[in-house]
Amino acid sequence: MAYTNVMRVAIVGGGMGGLTAGRILHRAGCEVTVYEKSDGIGGRVRSDRFRGFTLDRGFQVFFDAYPAARRQLDYTDLNLRSFEPGAIISFAATRNILSDPLRDFPALPAAVRTNIVSLEDKLRTALLSAELKNRPTRAIMRDKDQTTEAYLLHRGFSGAYIERFVRPFFGGIFLDRSLQTSAKAFQFDWKMLAAGNTVVPASGMGAISAQLGRELVAADRIRLETPIRELIRESDGGVGGVRTDDGEICHADAVVVATPAPEAVRLTGMKMPEGSVGTTCLYFTGPTSVYDEKKVVLHANPDAFVNNVIQLDNAAPEYAPPGAHLLSVTVLGTPEGDDSSLYERALRDLRRMWAGDRRALDAISRLSPLALYRIPYAQFAQPVGVYDGLPDSITATPGLFFAGEFTAASSLNAAIASGEACAKEILKRDG
Ligand SMILES: Cc1cc2nc3c(=O)[nH]c(=O)nc-3n(C[C@H](O)[C@H](O)[C@H](O)COP(=O)(O)OP(=O)(O)OC[C@H]3O[C@@H](n4cnc5c(N)ncnc54)[C@H](O)[C@@H]3O)c2cc1C
Repeated sequence: MAYTNVMRVAIVGGGMGGLTAGRILHRAGCEVTVYEKSDGIGGRVRSDRFRGFTLDRGFQVFFDAYPAARRQLDYTDLNLRSFEPGAIISFAATRNILSDPLRDFPALPAAVRTNIVSLEDKLRTALLSAELKNRPTRAIMRDKDQTTEAYLLHRGFSGAYIERFVRPFFGGIFLDRSLQTSAKAFQFDWKMLAAGNTVVPASGMGAISAQLGRELVAADRIRLETPIRELIRESDGGVGGVRTDDGEICHADAVVVATPAPEAVRLTGMKMPEGSVGTTCLYFTGPTSVYDEKKVVLHANPDAFVNNVIQLDNAAPEYAPPGAHLLSVTVLGTPEGDDSSLYERALRDLRRMWAGDRRALDAISRLSPLALYRIPYAQFAQPVGVYDGLPDSITATPGLFFAGEFTAASSLNAAIASGEACAKEILKRDG
């Protein structure tokens, strides 16, 4: 590539990956334009305001130990609100608190008393946390891959522990309860859980994307509602720009594809991770909260419809207007049925999860549906071996680069890290 003056970079997609790459390149003096097909930035990390509530587009949390996020985000500005470690497990009509006694000291007596998991499994949990907290991510990624289930069995965890805790807890993280997800993803997430806090920004997950995009928005470098139809191919086989859906041609010295994987396949024809996991998020509001802890509640019954529930305002009161409460209910996949039938099925499951708890059942009886989000493509599937075949941020095609989770792993951290890696490659060529 030869640049006459300022390097022009076209970025296709304004999610975490595209915004991270865009901000770094903009700060380095490149002429960046982000083309985003939807009406706002953030991609899968957006929040809506509705009747005074903050509704994330799907239940999503942020691990403040994420290394790339620590490099790129100003945590003070995000006003982070923390959940307590561990979870409340609803199983066979009982609720049990499972906490990390090493980090959640006030919960220690309850953690020791709870008999939903054995003492041996509690010890294995503490050992695993201590080991993974200090294990470099590089070492985790170099491991021979296996399923999360095989990894846990190999470490001696009991079937009961896997069924009652890991399946619903990591089901909520991987959006898949099968535990066939790569053990590398499991170890990385466990390491993050052990090393830091699980948080949300006070004004919603969308605040993370808003912060990443702020400078680009201020400099008018983002074009919303501008889908890119195709890349401009040069006679030498390189990529020299993009064509919008309206037919406008925008020339660029470097083009960054920062869309979800299926769209990256359509635009480039290159190989990307296949498969996806989806989720449905149902919001309810009520005049009283269903429970008081700042913890996620897992539904461990094997026939669960609802996988996990969180009373968001317990940890982040700003999510609900004064006097109201906000319950986020996660269902895995996108089951058939209209909104009212899904709300009804979810309420049936909530009553089962709090069976015998009169106060909670009273709160559940006063819940009203608020909003429902169906998200068929929440993450790309991460089975054993997936990380070996991911594309790099630099491609063999001159002028073409990738940012976005599909170059690293399906997470906020990976999306940010991919943006960093992509910007670095482009700046190397800017000489
Ligand atoms: C419900 C849910 C829960 C999640 N939970 C977590 C979690 O708890 N922790 C975690 O770390 N991660 C979680 N994730 C994953 C995380 O959000 C994603 O890995 C990350 O946001 C992906 O960022 P990205 O920039 O790679 O892609 P995206 O966010 O998908 O951004 C791509 C952008 O490209 C745009 N685009 C697509 N095609 C075009 C086109 N032709 N022209 C212009 N623009 C285009 C899209 O509109 C989009 O804005 C979750 C995701 C979801 C949806």
